[in-house]
Amino acid sequence: MSEIVDLSLGEMLTALHAGDLSSREVTLAFLERIERLDPIIHAFITINPDEALLQADEADKLIQNLRREPGQDLPALTGVPIAVKDVLCVKDMRCTCGSLILENFIPPYNATAVERLREAGVVILGKTNTDEFAMGSSTENSAYGPTHNPWDFDHVPGGSSGGSAAAIVARLTPLALGTDTGGSVRQPASFCGVTGIKPTYGRVSRYGLVAYGSSLDVVGAFGRSAAEIIPLFKVMAGADPLDATTIDLPIPEIDLTRMDSRTGLRNLRIGVPDEYFIEGIQPEVEDRVRLAIDEFETLGAQIKTVNLPYTEQALPAYYIIAPAEASANLARFDGIRYGPRVPADEMWDIFRHTRGDKFGPEVKRRIMLGTYALSAGYYEAYYGQAQKVRTLIKRDFEAAFQKVDVIAAPVAPTTAFHIGEHGDDPLSMYLEDIFTLPANLAGVPGIAFPVGFDDRGLPIGMQLMGPHFREELLFQTAYAYQQVTDWHTRQPKMDHAL
Ligand code: GLN
Repeated sequence: MSEIVDLSLGEMLTALHAGDLSSREVTLAFLERIERLDPIIHAFITINPDEALLQADEADKLIQNLRREPGQDLPALTGVPIAVKDVLCVKDMRCTCGSLILENFIPPYNATAVERLREAGVVILGKTNTDEFAMGSSTENSAYGPTHNPWDFDHVPGGSSGGSAAAIVARLTPLALGTDTGGSVRQPASFCGVTGIKPTYGRVSRYGLVAYGSSLDVVGAFGRSAAEIIPLFKVMAGADPLDATTIDLPIPEIDLTRMDSRTGLRNLRIGVPDEYFIEGIQPEVEDRVRLAIDEFETLGAQIKTVNLPYTEQALPAYYIIAPAEASANLARFDGIRYGPRVPADEMWDIFRHTRGDKFGPEVKRRIMLGTYALSAGYYEAYYGQAQKVRTLIKRDFEAAFQKVDVIAAPVAPTTAFHIGEHGDDPLSMYLEDIFTLPANLAGVPGIAFPVGFDDRGLPIGMQLMGPHFREELLFQTAYAYQQVTDWHTRQPKMDHAL
């Protein structure tokens, strides 16, 4: 048998359920690899060895009991380890959000997504690194230091869920959770060469996710392939009375056989938007994405040009709406309700010093931008206008999905950049999000997966976007591609770490 950390999810589940491997053995294998490699990669903010082993033993007991008294079904992910982005609450485990202001925050409850996964039997290895409050595209905004891209340690893994994406490709965990407000699952998936799903807004509960931009935030997931993320998605998805924005729609049947490479993609219409192949995009990114689109054509899909004319306006609209919502959401971190307090005689000084000392520069920038955009006299000019643009972007997608089933595009204009490359220039960092923000503004789902490498050996990703609540189309289409290509199986050498 191959090494435990190299097993596919299917192989792992079979071995666990057959009793050939215990969850304790699996968990220890990943914990050992984390201990060895994470000092270099820094994918984790908090590692959870003791509790993880207890959860593994619980899973092993359940498996043994069921083997003695068969008849009952084992929960779908019993004994499988997972890593959780450090913006989702896991009961009794520190949740920092990559910020000093929550350095010692220990939530007394599980986020709904986490709760459902625990009920499905997962073992939580730890909490992964993120840009502070998920604001960023590189994990460099984490107060706990950046994550390093396993393909090249001098490069960022993308962000904000960079810790989770890096952990998958470095085989520190088979599965991981992320969140996507403006691209934070898809872009790190692309930079690290893994697969990531951003579900439809409202498909997965946000209860227990520390809010950034509440009308945009969605909990997503990472794995080594589309097929491996499906069970995770199915467990997390669905209405939740604790989040009124979740929708009570059945989770679609995800039938992979319908899209396998033999039956092909004959009935699938794939739209290619001109607006996503713009000047300035790294040529290798465009080449690889176009080659992948050719591959879909070979598989039988019909390729059509579509137009999403308001794409260019997505970036300014997002960078008004997201900071506006963030400025309201982050008001609670004041040293009184949450977080450490910097003492002072006056209440206002407590607020000022606590927030001044404990928030990082990007978070402060967003709070100021958002507060300004919402202030009397400017509200209509900024926030009001941005909301109108948002409606136009949503209509763009609705019109396109009249003509095609899914839309194919690059995830980001470049591959992973150097740590520090966007240093003092927040705008150049925001431009990295140009292709991911529109799906969040429209609320539609997206999946990112690897389609090749640039000449420095850094992964290139593409994304498929689909109509609201049609995640099954994205999984099936990405799966068809992964049946005939092997980009998703490639692994970084990490020579000087091993
Ligand atoms: N990079 C974007 C931002 O900084 C998106 C982040 C996210 O999706 N959480 O807001």
